[in-house]
Amino acid sequence: MSSLLEQLIDALRCLPGVGQKSAQRMAYHLLERNREGGQRLSDALKEAIERIGHCGQCRDFSETPLCPTCASASRERSLLCAVESPADRLVIEQATGYRGLYFVLQGRLSPLDGIGPRELGLDQLAARLAEGEAKELIIATNPTVEGEATAHYLAQLARQAGVRPSRLAHGVPLGGELEYVDRGTLAHAFGSRLEVES
Ligand code: ZN
Repeated sequence: MSSLLEQLIDALRCLPGVGQKSAQRMAYHLLERNREGGQRLSDALKEAIERIGHCGQCRDFSETPLCPTCASASRERSLLCAVESPADRLVIEQATGYRGLYFVLQGRLSPLDGIGPRELGLDQLAARLAEGEAKELIIATNPTVEGEATAHYLAQLARQAGVRPSRLAHGVPLGGELEYVDRGTLAHAFGSRLEVES
C-alpha cells in the first residue's frame, strides 16, 4: 500500500500535462504552503464531479437537467449553433453576441478513435432538428480535418430535416481551434457566416 503522499502525487497526474515531477511539486506546495487552498480545491473538485452533469437538450455541462441557456425565454430558438466543446460554446457566447441556442457535440467525428455519430449525440441532434423549431444550423466545428468532416455530416443532417446549414466565414485559420482565435476575428467570422453548399 502506498503512502498518502504517493497517492496524492499519483492522483494529481490525472491532470493534462502533469507528469511525475510537476505532481510532486504540486503535492509539496499544497502540504507545505497552502493547505487551505488544497482544502478548497478538494471541496470544489468533489462538488463539481458529483453535481455537474450534461444538459438534456444541448449536452453542455450543467448542474440542472436543463442548462440556463436552454431554459432561457430570451434566446432566439430558430438558431442552433453546433460546437465541438463547452470551451468553444463559451468563446462564441463571449465574443459574438449570438443569442440563439447551442448543441455541444463533446467531440468530433473520429472513426479511428471510435468516435462516431452516436458518441456525439447526433441522433439527439437529428431529433431536435426534426422538431422544426430551428431554421438555421450554424456549424461552428473547428477548421481541422476532423472538424470539417464533422461539419459535412452535420450539414447533411440539417438538410435532411429541412434546416439551412451555415458555416463560419473566412478568418478562422485553417487547422486552427476556435478556442484560440482572437475575439474580433471570431465575431467577424460568426457574423458573416455562409450557407453550406451541397
Ligand atoms: Zn442546454
